[in-house]
Amino acid sequence: MADHRPHAHDTRVADVARGELREAGAEAAAIVAEHLAGLGDRPVWRPVPDAERAWLAGQELPAHGRPLGELLDDTRAHVLPYPMGNGHPRFFGWVNSPPNPAGVLVEPLAAALDPSCAGGDHAGPHLERAVVRWLAELVGFPHPPGGGLLTSGASMATVICLASARQRAALADGWDAREEGLWGRPPMVMYVTEEGHSCLHKAAQLLGLGARQVRVVPVDGAYRMDVAALRTMIEEDLRRGLRPFCVAGSAGTVNSGAVDPLGAIADVAAEHGLWFHVDGAYGALGVLADGAAPHYAGLERADSLALDPHKWLGVPVGCGCALLRDPGAARAAFSLVPSYLIDDNADDLGWFAEYGPEQTRPFRALKTWATLSHLGRSGVERLVNHTAGLARTLAAMVADSGDFELLAPVVTSITAFRYAPGSDDVNRAIPGAVQARGNAFITGTRLGGRAALRACFLHPDTTENDLAILLDEIRLAAKTL
Ligand SMILES: *Cc1c(COP(=O)(O)O)cnc(C)c1O
Repeated sequence: MADHRPHAHDTRVADVARGELREAGAEAAAIVAEHLAGLGDRPVWRPVPDAERAWLAGQELPAHGRPLGELLDDTRAHVLPYPMGNGHPRFFGWVNSPPNPAGVLVEPLAAALDPSCAGGDHAGPHLERAVVRWLAELVGFPHPPGGGLLTSGASMATVICLASARQRAALADGWDAREEGLWGRPPMVMYVTEEGHSCLHKAAQLLGLGARQVRVVPVDGAYRMDVAALRTMIEEDLRRGLRPFCVAGSAGTVNSGAVDPLGAIADVAAEHGLWFHVDGAYGALGVLADGAAPHYAGLERADSLALDPHKWLGVPVGCGCALLRDPGAARAAFSLVPSYLIDDNADDLGWFAEYGPEQTRPFRALKTWATLSHLGRSGVERLVNHTAGLARTLAAMVADSGDFELLAPVVTSITAFRYAPGSDDVNRAIPGAVQARGNAFITGTRLGGRAALRACFLHPDTTENDLAILLDEIRLAAKTL
């Protein structure tokens, strides 16, 4: 039987907004400011105690609704004390930035408006046109009208780009991959390096290409694609009757921040009629660092570029972006407009939902607009230069240290290194031991077959003193292993 007892409190939107929300909202704003202001004084990370984990994961759905103030109290007591760590200036793990305050500011406004940015004539889709263009302009990528869209992250952007590439190759060969599937056709082959992100492999698998058709191209000593090897592999696949269709380069790998020789890859792609995709999820903005542009030459020749505003820019998670030289390629891969979604008032570009798999799309543009507007071009350049400079400084400290060894050149804002006195096992255990101490946070990886430590710099507040603390934390942690 349904419960028809009166609610414990009023849940009509206008009433909540006039009363409870006004008060709780002001308190939430204060909590946010306090949280962000005090992050540097708290542990970077700490394990969630068993009792808290039980509270978080095990609680029962309340039978009756609870007032907003109580929800804030619970959030303050049980959620905010256990962050992932990425807000802290000594968080150097994976590729996770702190949130930009302007992005934080407008998140509740996006939620209050709560549109679906599938398309239509409302603020969201129009603002998305602007921020996608801004992102393309920042990194010097060509931008025809409609040449991109915001996504959940680069993983989804990659699905969009590779699906566009797949359909373009099929159409060029006189068939339609959406209509026929991949049955009975020569297998399509894609090329990535061993340093290419896992999302490239996931997208290829999801698109039915088969992991076997993803060629892993070797890298040089700086973890950049060996383009001569790429050429040989393509020629070998052509001889075997396969259908090379796409090469994916990296503009900033996760392991070492390496940028592939994009111009040389573009040449090979052009020669063989391949789609040239660039994974710039993390590193595309690195082109803005002083002196970095030559490393990125050729980026502007790509057919598609994945770039994550929720990485280096610090737009609150999640916001990725797929940029496309020919927006028609994505539309050809995804547009499917049922009768209930036909919009006679749409312009020539149609709806964003025609360019990717998502139908209902969140208002990602507002936090991206706010972050970019707050920073401005000069602020983005300053952020990129500051963090890239930290990576170079750490590399120099490592080189001078006597007990650390640099494992890769620094080209973006990642430093890959190892603790020289420690074995592979010790280096593998160091990140966890450093994290547990709570004073800094790094993660590990494997580079050139060896256990590596890596530090990724994305936080505007990180200082050179924090780098010294990091190296000392690693030494102290290693002693305990
Ligand atoms: C983060 C990242 C991805 C994956 O993007 P998501 O936003 O996590 O989906 C791909 N490539 C690189 C280089 C990345 O840093």
